[in-house]
Amino acid sequence: MRTAIFPGSFDPFTVGHYDVLEQALKLFDKVIVAVGYNATKKGNGYFDPEVRVKIIEEATKNLNNVEVCTYSGLTIRLCQKLGVNYIIRGLRTTTDFELESVISQANKKMAPEINTIFIPASQEYSFVSSTVVRDVLIHGGDASLFLPEGVDIEKYNQ
Ligand code: ADP
Repeated sequence: MRTAIFPGSFDPFTVGHYDVLEQALKLFDKVIVAVGYNATKKGNGYFDPEVRVKIIEEATKNLNNVEVCTYSGLTIRLCQKLGVNYIIRGLRTTTDFELESVISQANKKMAPEINTIFIPASQEYSFVSSTVVRDVLIHGGDASLFLPEGVDIEKYNQ
């Protein structure tokens, strides 16, 4: 069974993330969406990691072969622990590419068995980011435009 990990902050999970996940599911039998958080820093992030997981579960309830987990530390360590050799990352811009290619090369050096697969953003979602969603939420705008169907973010936005 071909399994990949799709790691990220997902603070929160957006239509852009959903789009990358759908594309990844065409390549892999199973995709594990892994919410990364920094175990040593309290209060980092807008939503707690557990809430981010709930949002992703809500967003992906109609997709088969998706699992959601949290992790802290190096993504390659999570891959090794789970015996998974593929990391999925989405690319929106050349800036994403520059950052991501450096990370993938460092990961390759540390763990040669692990491969990073880049999936380009669909044109209609390439401007969507968790940062935009958080700004919209903070200022009382309609964030549902940028969220996957079925996600009721206001439930979590206290
Ligand atoms: P991180 O903090 O690890 O970058 P994010 O939650 O911001 O976590 O993003 C997770 C992954 O999803 C990254 O690979 C990012 O480039 C990608 N991504 C984010 N938004 C989009 C989008 N709109 N389209 C495609 N990929 C995206």
